[in-house]
Amino acid sequence: MSSRRKFLEKSLGGAIGLTFAPLLMHGVPPAAPDGPIVLSTWNNKKANQAAWSAVESGKSALDVVEIGVKTVEADPKDMSVGYGGRPDRDGNVTLDASIMNAEGDCGSVCFLQDIKHPIAVARKVMETTPHVMLAGEGAQQFALENGFEAENLLTPEAESAWKNWQKEAKYKPIINIENHDTIGMLAMDKNGDLSGACTTSGLAFKMHGRVGDSPIIGAGLFVDNEVGGAVATGMGEAIVKVCGSFLVVELMRQGRTAEEACKAAVERVVKKQKGHKDFQVCFLALRKDGTYGGYALHKGFMYVVSTQAVPTVMDSLHYLKS
Ligand code: ASP
Repeated sequence: MSSRRKFLEKSLGGAIGLTFAPLLMHGVPPAAPDGPIVLSTWNNKKANQAAWSAVESGKSALDVVEIGVKTVEADPKDMSVGYGGRPDRDGNVTLDASIMNAEGDCGSVCFLQDIKHPIAVARKVMETTPHVMLAGEGAQQFALENGFEAENLLTPEAESAWKNWQKEAKYKPIINIENHDTIGMLAMDKNGDLSGACTTSGLAFKMHGRVGDSPIIGAGLFVDNEVGGAVATGMGEAIVKVCGSFLVVELMRQGRTAEEACKAAVERVVKKQKGHKDFQVCFLALRKDGTYGGYALHKGFMYVVSTQAVPTVMDSLHYLKS
């Protein structure tokens, strides 16, 4: 059954008050691709719209994912990404991002401060240096040398959220709350090539210097143009411990559907990490044949799919039933 038909069933179901559970699609053989596709984590429709215009105009998957996630980095209302991101427990906004192209090249930055578009810096690392990852002051110095401007990324809203947090100063992740705007995006362009990007301000009120999964290739993002791509969101530490996105891609290489691969990665987290009831972990994947799927540990994970100008928001299946 094609992805397009899945959308149709979902929207028809909505129109007549029925819900078609994505579970019905579980294990269904992949459909043949019939055009470009853009997927992103959570509910950033604007990011998908920007990405869709780019892919429609013939841009490469790499350009598409950069353009898509930049819209969220620049949006002060998104409090988990870029400008407007919630700070660490000392009041500093520190950013992580990674990008990967169809050739298997990748670049990332972590613990980067004062630069609004970490994804563009990650791409610059990939394209102009012999390295894959730059961190902290070195990443910032590299950005400044390459024409990026330093600016204050702490908005009054994020500062006030931090001040509120300081009243109790407890670090307890709230499932789906502290995470819900971090964006991972996967795209297939008109040539059928794949790329991915992931960008975040990380967990709110984290320790100063903490780096999550998003800038770590294989954890927050992995793309193999022969097989597919995957992105992750949720508790970065849990995702790093299972090399989450790499695991999803390797499972797709072995023949699993995107949804099956994401589910198996969540099950790996469950099996290996006793505290899993207290955090969220979500994976989203796109296969080379154009089929896709997501799966989360807890209820509440959504992703946005674009195969046409109007994006569709999908609810993912989840492992824990309560
Ligand atoms: N995975 C990100 C991190 O741990 C957080 C998120 O997805 O919201 O930094």
